[in-house]
Amino acid sequence: MALKYKRILLKISGEALGGEKGMGFDEPTMDAICGGVKKAHELGVQIGIVVGGGNFWRGAKASVRGMDRATADYVGMLATVMNALALQSALERAGVPCVVQSAIEMKNVAESFIRLKARTYLDNNKIVIFAAGTGNPFFSTDTTAALRASEINAEVVMKATSVDGVYDADPK
Ligand code: UDP
Repeated sequence: MALKYKRILLKISGEALGGEKGMGFDEPTMDAICGGVKKAHELGVQIGIVVGGGNFWRGAKASVRGMDRATADYVGMLATVMNALALQSALERAGVPCVVQSAIEMKNVAESFIRLKARTYLDNNKIVIFAAGTGNPFFSTDTTAALRASEINAEVVMKATSVDGVYDADPK
C-alpha cells in the first residue's frame, strides 16, 4: 500500500492521556493510543511524537495562583517528561521501538534532543518522543510540535487532543 505520509509528527495532549478525567494517566486510554500508533508504525510510517503535560500541570494556571511564570512553565515541561516516559514504556510493551529525547538535559532518564540523531532514529523506524517542550518557558507543546515537525521534515502534524470542537471556517 502506498503511504499518504511517510513521516509524521503526532501531538498528543497531556489531557488525552488522562482519559475521561483528563488528569493523571488512564492506562486503557494510553493502551488505545499506543495501539493506533503501533498500527501506523507497522505500515512503515516514521513517527515523531510531542506529548503535552496538561494532565498534570499548566504553567499559565499556576502563575495565576502566584507562582513565577517561568518557574511554573519549567514545572510544566517536567510534566511532559513524565508523560513521555510513560508513553515510551507503553509503546515498548506493545513491541514498538521508541526513544525519548528531552529538550532539558536529563541524562539519567532520557537522551538530550539532538536533531540529527532524532532523524537517524526515524530513518531506522524508531519512534522518537520529544519531551520537555521547546525547553523554553512561555511556549506550549503545540509550538513544540510545529518546531519539531519542521526540524525532522515531517509532512504533516497530527494533533490528538481533547477539545469540544474544531472550526472548519472563520467563526467571525
Ligand atoms: N511548556 C513550556 N514550554 C514549552 C512547552 C510547554 O513552558 O515549550 C509548559 C507550559 O507551562 C505548559 C506545560 O508545559 O502549560 C504543559 O504543556 P501544554 O500546556 O502544551 O500541554 P497540553 O495542553 O498539550 O497537555
